[in-house]
Amino acid sequence: MDKIFIFLGPPGCGKGTQTANLSNKLHLPHIDTGSLLRKHVQKETPYGLEAKSYMDKGQLVPARIVADIIKTRILEPDTEHGYILDGYPRSIEQAKLLEDVFKEIGEKKEIVAFYFDIPTDTLVERLVNRRFCPKCGMIYNKKSSPPKIDNCCDICCEKLSKRSDDTEEVAQERFKTYFKETAPLLEFYKEKGILEEIDADKPIDEVWEEIKELADIEPDDSEMDSIRTEE
Ligand code: AMP
Repeated sequence: MDKIFIFLGPPGCGKGTQTANLSNKLHLPHIDTGSLLRKHVQKETPYGLEAKSYMDKGQLVPARIVADIIKTRILEPDTEHGYILDGYPRSIEQAKLLEDVFKEIGEKKEIVAFYFDIPTDTLVERLVNRRFCPKCGMIYNKKSSPPKIDNCCDICCEKLSKRSDDTEEVAQERFKTYFKETAPLLEFYKEKGILEEIDADKPIDEVWEEIKELADIEPDDSEMDSIRTEE
């Protein structure tokens, strides 16, 4: 059965990395509202111009903007056999709007929500030390998973970048937003009986094994299928 996966968890919990793994394994598109919004900001579209001030402060972009962006994206033909929503929805309001979008477009796929359970006390530090390759999207952490050569991508040798909102101040704000707006979604999806909890306080490969089991993916030792990309 075709599925829609919803990945939930605090900023820096590793859900971006695992979404990329699952997307790669099941050949499903990885739909990440943070990246979609950053593209709008970069292109200075009307949505991007409005979203920027919220993103700079670590606050949620208004729900109607994100719902419009998501609707446009899930109507693209590559979503026919399912997709992974990374970082969407992020509030009860967004989850209800998403249900409206599903009704409007006649979306009937099965939905499963994965919650990345992890202690949040070290996550601000993780975000502040996060770097990414602007060319291939690979992510690094200056302390826990640095590149082989300082500040240089292992894959394409491109100079690494830091996201403008990965500062201590904005990261703290993003956590406040997460606890106030996003955490209540866990109860919302639990009540619907579609929430799976993942112990995300483990090495990347072990988290990936747990996800494969929950997503009914056969183990395959011959394949190196765990990758790291933008959170
Ligand atoms: P992320 O890349 O997931 O860390 O998101 C970066 C920023 O984009 C967030 O701090 C928000 O300002 C904005 N953003 C991303 N996804 C959403 C969403 N679903 N709803 C509202 N704002 C979002």
